[in-house]
Amino acid sequence: MATMHLSAPSVGPLEREYLLRAFDSGWIAPVGPDLDAFERELAATTGVREAVAVASGTAALHLALELVGATAGRSVLVQSLTFVATANAVRYTGATPVFVDSHPDTWTMDPELVADYLARHREDPPAAVVPVDIFGQCADYDALREVCGAHGVPIVQDAAEALGAFHRGQPAGAQGELGVLSFNGNKIITTGGGGALLTDDPRRAARARHLATQAREPAPHYEHTEVGYNYRLGNLPAALGRAQLARLPEIVARKRAIRAQYAAFFSQVPGVDLMPEAAYGTGNAWLTVVTIDPVRCGSTAEELRMALATHGIEARAVWKPMHLQPVYAAAPALDRGVAARLFRQGLCLPSGAGLSEADVDYVIEVVAGALSRRARQLADL
Ligand SMILES: *Cc1c(COP(=O)(O)O)cnc(C)c1O
Repeated sequence: MATMHLSAPSVGPLEREYLLRAFDSGWIAPVGPDLDAFERELAATTGVREAVAVASGTAALHLALELVGATAGRSVLVQSLTFVATANAVRYTGATPVFVDSHPDTWTMDPELVADYLARHREDPPAAVVPVDIFGQCADYDALREVCGAHGVPIVQDAAEALGAFHRGQPAGAQGELGVLSFNGNKIITTGGGGALLTDDPRRAARARHLATQAREPAPHYEHTEVGYNYRLGNLPAALGRAQLARLPEIVARKRAIRAQYAAFFSQVPGVDLMPEAAYGTGNAWLTVVTIDPVRCGSTAEELRMALATHGIEARAVWKPMHLQPVYAAAPALDRGVAARLFRQGLCLPSGAGLSEADVDYVIEVVAGALSRRARQLADL
């Protein structure tokens, strides 16, 4: 049976047309007119002055952290509930990640924990604070900017999952000193693999482009005064990204409709709640995520995941928090147990923009069947 994936890319004739046009132009390199245009269009879409397109969201995070001075001996506050890339990028710089729990109302970095930490570390402040706009919901930037601003600590916004979301009417990605997007295959739009760094500071953009091209100095020969990276995005994937970006409003609208369809069903099911949508913003519904209280619902998230898997439907646990990952077991954590509970109770449901209403109905039918079977089992006990 064909598998219904969690977040399959939505690509079609427009993407094909842009890609072939770029191919025929002869610009098959990490430079070219589509790369320049993609950067301009990304900046316009997110409301920043400059976007620097790179090979991955992880590369964009690494560059952002290097730009704000993350280095060995410094700490960086990182949201614990995230994909491992956020933490790994901190480690690439040599800095120590300090993991911060989520607030239960938003699932994003708890500003109170950040305030506590910064007050206790006036002598050795972190190089950056890295909130994550998890599942396409912006972090609480009013509170985070106030706290970080008071201590002069820059915010690096991991908006890898949040392109097309809004914070107080402003597009996601522009809320920190530096913003990061991902165009991986499962993200809201894809270049087949890619990312971008967003900034209002042209000098930082120039510095990021320099570091991303092996820090080559302007000279007729190859001249290098520092260590750089090979992080630039190619012109072909950028062309694909331009087509996807043109379709962003349509993709987000479809994702939000899918979430509304799930929401209508789960509002009738005791013990199952959708991820809350914060009052300060509008999420892009990258994934529809629910939490399952096994006591009130009768089933656990893992039982539902397995029931869906037997029908060829991919569902997945919420990110396992970084402070519970073996690779980061030794890192300090500001923990109130929220992210750990979301990991235990959370389930991400198929949310690809290509899913039809009937596809989502089928997922709902399988969930409803599993829940009523479980209810009958419990009644028989
Ligand atoms: C996907 C993702 C990244 C990494 O992006 P890549 O393009 O896969 O390198 C970073 N942070 C978060 C929160 C992500 O979801």
